Amino acid sequence: MFIGHYAVGLAAKRWAPKASLGSTFMACQLLDLIWPVLVLLGIETVAVDRSATEFTPLDFIHYPVSHSLVMALIWGLVFGFFFSVFTGDRLTALKMVAIVFSHWVLDFITHRPDLPLLWFEPKVGLGLWYSKIGTVVFEVGLFAAAIAIYLKEVSLPTRKAKWIFWSLVSFLLAVYMANAFGPPPPDGTPSTVIAAPALAMWLFVFWAAWVERNSVSRSR
Ligand SMILES: [Zn+2]
Repeated sequence: MFIGHYAVGLAAKRWAPKASLGSTFMACQLLDLIWPVLVLLGIETVAVDRSATEFTPLDFIHYPVSHSLVMALIWGLVFGFFFSVFTGDRLTALKMVAIVFSHWVLDFITHRPDLPLLWFEPKVGLGLWYSKIGTVVFEVGLFAAAIAIYLKEVSLPTRKAKWIFWSLVSFLLAVYMANAFGPPPPDGTPSTVIAAPALAMWLFVFWAAWVERNSVSRSR
């Protein structure tokens, strides 16, 4: 899952309005932001397997530190702790724990059974990825609904603000469509080469923070 996670980050504006879009974007994707770092360190592994699912040719062989059920909860608590320390807003910090954990829930819906509960076995996943069209409809639907929710909570008063927001949305959609319908990486591509581009996802955290700086809450 990709833009479905960002849907949570956008829609969080209604549920946790005090959190900046930069924070909610970091929270909703925290597990995927950590994942490429762990792969590059040799702690987690991924491979190309064209028969994996219809949606993705990636086989997530081993990624318990970033993506197990227990670790998702722990990463959520760590994020919530730091959020609370930096903002002093405990209620919103608690909501951030839930937003981090939402990543695991959405991955559980889409991934085949490759998500560990703790470390190796058992692994779970409902496998929406077995249907490419089902995945795209589900994720794009979530993303579109989230944009509508976000724009009800926030106004983009200047041309610049609108440009920053809509370019972020378009860029996320373009990356998603390229991943969904573009050619798969060649067989035998090493873990590190597969995961390294995912580091660029950190860019979206800063881009979202930039949107936040240029937006105005409608309830303010
Ligand atoms: Zn993930």
